[in-house]
Amino acid sequence: MQRIGLFGGSFNPVHLGHLLVARAAQEELQLSRLFFIPAAQSPFKPGLVLAPPEQRLRLLRLALAGRTGCEIDDQEIKRGGISYTIDSVRDYARRFPGARLFYLIGADHVPQLPKWREAIDLARLVEVVVIPRPGQLATPLPVPFRGHALAGFPLGVSSSQIRDRVRAGLPIDLLVGPAVAEAIRNNRLYL
Ligand code: ATP
Repeated sequence: MQRIGLFGGSFNPVHLGHLLVARAAQEELQLSRLFFIPAAQSPFKPGLVLAPPEQRLRLLRLALAGRTGCEIDDQEIKRGGISYTIDSVRDYARRFPGARLFYLIGADHVPQLPKWREAIDLARLVEVVVIPRPGQLATPLPVPFRGHALAGFPLGVSSSQIRDRVRAGLPIDLLVGPAVAEAIRNNRLYL
């Protein structure tokens, strides 16, 4: 049986916290494949102007280059508009009948899960995988969600922190990796 990980987010930009989430899930859940699914626009950050989708995709490609088992799925970008997890999850359920689908989220998202669109169907289709995030209390999964909490590699870095640092002219290399940092600089993103 295939074990497929799904990792949605704005990835604005991708950072080492995301990569450590991915690594923890791959190792602890023995995933056969792990898909990063960048959102066109998050329903929970409606006012936030994101870097253009092709730039966020470019950064993801750089960050994931050479990482076996990690793939990028641009279906939410292609659909455009507000991205709802249930739409992408249904697509995976159709494409991989019988597979176990694991949906990765940082601990900060757990309390909001019941508010996600079509939460009951979502809870039926995926096992939620919660990755610890420093500063977030570990809360139990709300009913009817089921899933796993990983040990992970807790790292207190966020995309907003990266954007703030770029704007302030502070270095980000160690937080996003050298290739992503260089692309952010060359394309004058997040200034
Ligand atoms: P922002 O600071 O703009 O809100 P973010 O750093 O939370 O962004 P997202 O792309 O919104 O990044 O996150 C995608 C997913 O990755 C979410 O489930 C989020 O909880 C999780 N995540 C992001 N950073 C971390 C981290 N350092 N540790 C654990 N989970 C994380």
